[in-house]
Amino acid sequence: MVNEIKNYSGLYSYKDSGWFINGTQISEDPLAQAARTGNKLLKLRALLQLNFEREYKVVFVNPNFNLNIAPEDEKNIVQRSMLRHYMKELNKIHIDARARGISLKLKDYFIDDPMALPEVDAARVKCGSYCSRCGSFEMNARNYIAVCGGCGYKESLEKMFVRGIIDYSVLFFNERMTTRSIRLFLGDILHIRSVRRLLNKYCVKVGQGKSTYYIIKNQDIDKLLLDNNYISRYGSNTH
Ligand SMILES: [Zn+2]
Repeated sequence: MVNEIKNYSGLYSYKDSGWFINGTQISEDPLAQAARTGNKLLKLRALLQLNFEREYKVVFVNPNFNLNIAPEDEKNIVQRSMLRHYMKELNKIHIDARARGISLKLKDYFIDDPMALPEVDAARVKCGSYCSRCGSFEMNARNYIAVCGGCGYKESLEKMFVRGIIDYSVLFFNERMTTRSIRLFLGDILHIRSVRRLLNKYCVKVGQGKSTYYIIKNQDIDKLLLDNNYISRYGSNTH
């Protein structure tokens, strides 16, 4: 049994063997990926002269994922709403001595995960706040908003800061986020008092005094803002 786990979010549709977001086809095909992996099991089955059934599923785990798909195409797909049921059924599968023997033989072919998360070289990361529309680092802070020098896009300083702490916690997942490290990372666009206030709002504070650090509550920006009562107060052009 091959389970291809996908953390997609958004509105997807599947039609004529293609995957679409808002009507635009994407290059990735999770069903084909799962089938390819499943076919490797078939090769091993032949090579080792074993006898077992091969199945594959694509499992979508993100609660913000919606898929429009015809029932006849859904055979190898597990959507979030079915996940609990699916796991229950998996747990019911009985493993006998024969299955154990097969899994031990297959285990010889396991390889270490070639995609270990790379360490990020802090010296090579460009610091500062950037525009979420055009990527320019030329953000000019006003009272509560930053205006992009490249494209004119406006964003509240609070939201820009929140994007920054998400970036930091993804890039430096091994390191502690402190008032100092986040200021170095984002530049002095916010006063230190605002930095502390926002860290306390969007993160969990750990420790006291000099050893204080912060753990972000959530890495999904929409959820993080929503759960922590972010209010965009600066007009409809500002986000
Ligand atoms: Zn811009």
